Amino acid sequence: MSAGQRAALELTEAAREPAREQTFAAGLFMGKFDLAGIHPFPTQGVGDRARGDAFLKELEALLREYVDADEIDRTGEIPQRVIDELAKLGAFGIKIPVEYGGLGLSQTNYCRAAMLLGGWCGNTTALISAHQSIGVPQPLILFGTEAQKKKYLPRVARGEISAFALTETDVGSDPAAMTTRAEPTPDGRFFILNGEKLWCTNGTKARVIVVMAKTPPKPVNGRAKEQITAFVVETDWPGVEVEYRCRFMGLRALYNGVIRFTNVRVPRENILLAEGRGLRVALTTLDTGRLTLPAACVGMSKRCLEISRDWANQRVQWGASIGRHAAIADKIARMAANTFAMESMTLLAASRVDRDKNADVRLEAALCKLWGTETAWQIVNDTMQIRGGRGYETAASLQGRGEPVVPVERFLRDSRINTIFEGSSEIMRLFIAREMLDPHLKIAAPAMNSQLPWPQRLRAAAKAMSFYLTWYPKQWLPIYPTFNLQPSTLNTHLRYAARTSRRLARAIFHAMIRRGPKLEREQLLLGRFVDIGAELFAITAACLRAGQLLLAGEDKTESERLPELVDYFCRSARLRIEENFRQIRTNTDRPGYRLSQQMLKDRTGRDSA
Ligand SMILES: Cc1cc2nc3c(=O)[nH]c(=O)nc-3n(C[C@H](O)[C@H](O)[C@H](O)COP(=O)(O)OP(=O)(O)OC[C@H]3O[C@@H](n4cnc5c(N)ncnc54)[C@H](O)[C@@H]3O)c2cc1C
Repeated sequence: MSAGQRAALELTEAAREPAREQTFAAGLFMGKFDLAGIHPFPTQGVGDRARGDAFLKELEALLREYVDADEIDRTGEIPQRVIDELAKLGAFGIKIPVEYGGLGLSQTNYCRAAMLLGGWCGNTTALISAHQSIGVPQPLILFGTEAQKKKYLPRVARGEISAFALTETDVGSDPAAMTTRAEPTPDGRFFILNGEKLWCTNGTKARVIVVMAKTPPKPVNGRAKEQITAFVVETDWPGVEVEYRCRFMGLRALYNGVIRFTNVRVPRENILLAEGRGLRVALTTLDTGRLTLPAACVGMSKRCLEISRDWANQRVQWGASIGRHAAIADKIARMAANTFAMESMTLLAASRVDRDKNADVRLEAALCKLWGTETAWQIVNDTMQIRGGRGYETAASLQGRGEPVVPVERFLRDSRINTIFEGSSEIMRLFIAREMLDPHLKIAAPAMNSQLPWPQRLRAAAKAMSFYLTWYPKQWLPIYPTFNLQPSTLNTHLRYAARTSRRLARAIFHAMIRRGPKLEREQLLLGRFVDIGAELFAITAACLRAGQLLLAGEDKTESERLPELVDYFCRSARLRIEENFRQIRTNTDRPGYRLSQQMLKDRTGRDSA
């Protein structure tokens, strides 16, 4: 492992908060299929739902009246009128508690708002979401002092736009390389902030930004340790400048830019949480903040499904509507099933935040983000295929020819970023894999730690041995909980998930034994374990939600199709799971890696020649 890799790993490990509980998702990777707390599927309370409905009704009316998503895309600007109307409605403070001037709505209602926005306008979604999922509100609610909350929450709830600045030119997924620095003044009352942040969403319009910066190293176990600190910075302070507005393939009206900080005096009281705890602030903020993206993906996927259903019925080719041709029909079935699962996973994770503000949802949120954004990308891609040439044509061009405006091309461009930002899919898989291995690391790591004295290591080894002597045989026991959902196919799929959770736990354990510490470098293998876990989570969420909806007898037309839809989803997910297990045994990982390294070496040679 290179020094850079080691530094990145140590920094993220130091910022990682130990798991506070073994959640359902964490249990899945340990062969523990425990539905306590998620079965019956948690539904919204009547009052909470009514509050959400009232807000969503107003938000929808606002979107219809003021938000022309295609015009926003074409001009690259969100009209100030839209921003003002959103602020008037309270859309910048959806989750901010009422006592600080916000609407005080639940996480579920916030996700429902993101679903509505996601199906309408990606740019408006990003404005609202970057502001309150990662901008000032979320970290302040989580970590702010009372004085900080009183000072900033009413302002951001009223519509002072906020942003989050971590990324730099050389800092993408790896914060260890950060060069923005904040040095304390001699009296210690201020920090002098210098540096440049890249791709800061909302940065060109923001009045307040959470900025991550390196502060002087502190000694830890006799070694100077890098410190990253989070500051709330006001953009009208001297030395804060928007250097450049970035433009992208999609999200063309994103107010995203390069922000420069030159000798900015930041009061010490604007530190979030504590000096040196900035990465912890960023990671914990994202633990829940990450749920907004899959929620927005649900909204977009539902819209894609509507578009695809309409077009598949309407368009006749080769003597039949295209929906009658199996290749198109298959895409529609997959789209409908995956959208239902995506919504179920997201609502399940959101409900945990609502029941317990301190719930540890990092794993659930990461699974939703990874699975939701990857799946939504397939959905929008399939929608473009179904719409054929019209899918590729811009909204303005369709309108110019007198055809209905169906903005699939915009949705496709806007959604491509979802698997890159707020934790790219590759980094999400590593993050989930770290959490997946955590129980094993806790048990086995002290025995393998050569820094510890031998007696301590032997004691740890004995403890690990006694744990695995009971845990491992249990993973082979063919005894599973019984489920009593209606229709019974749901129980069959849940039993499969329970069985496969144990099979997954065994496969992870076998890989640990075979590869030892080298396992952490086996990204593709770990990724397959993660993908199996994500599919199991999706099956469980979809079955439990379907069972709940059918029991409640909600929406007769949809519920008549629901058993078939969920059965189809689970069968498809099972095929993907089996394919992943197959690839754990037989794959081309090693020759592929060798080949790519050779090609990269040749390329380096060519460049330097
Ligand atoms: C439109 C947009 C909005 C953004 N908004 C914000 C914002 O508001 N605030 C903010 O701070 N940042 C923001 N970002 C930055 C965004 O979060 C980063 O782009 C993202 O973290 C990835 O960093 P990078 O692009 O430098 O990619 P890199 O980190 O350079 O990665 C390049 C590729 O390598 C992969 N990769 C990297 N490391 C590993 C590894 N160890 N193992 C396997 N694969 C790896 C990545 O997954 C990716 O595919 C935004 C970016 C964009 C484009």
